[in-house]
Amino acid sequence: MPDSERVRTTVRDAPVQAPPSRAVRRGLGTAHGAVPASTTVFDDELPAVANLDPDLLDALRRAAIDAADDGVEFSVNGGWRSPEYQNQLLREAIAKYGSAEEAARWVATADTSAHVAGTAVDVGFAARAWLSEHGAGYGLCQIYRNEPWHYELRPEAPECGCPPQYADPSHDPRTRR
Ligand SMILES: [Zn+2]
Repeated sequence: MPDSERVRTTVRDAPVQAPPSRAVRRGLGTAHGAVPASTTVFDDELPAVANLDPDLLDALRRAAIDAADDGVEFSVNGGWRSPEYQNQLLREAIAKYGSAEEAARWVATADTSAHVAGTAVDVGFAARAWLSEHGAGYGLCQIYRNEPWHYELRPEAPECGCPPQYADPSHDPRTRR
């Protein structure tokens, strides 16, 4: 076979490099709650931040301003998500962990996800360390032992401290509907 034809054949038969899920995720962009790198709690133009519960966002911003005095930036890796985006993440988790049961330890369904409700935020590494020490004073609490990045607002926390953590989301009664 001529070389030029060989090349064409090779290209046509080459396996598709990107898994479909990544292409879909690119389709579900920032309008669905995807978060670009270096996003902070002050990025109002991003739906992932702007669609958070106002009380949660207020607490996050007060904490972020105080954390900045300690040289800590509050980066955001996840906030509000559309149901479509949440379901996409769930499908990816099922593919990654091999079963719906194991995926449920990490990713909630769109019906039960606090991210879809706008009441949860996933913070970056520096913010995580700072919040583990100071978060309760702002009502910001880690909810799951296996997700040190996932914070929600617990308004009673400044007085009573944060509630005991669930081992993982599959132990959370809110995820069992
Ligand atoms: Zn989360």
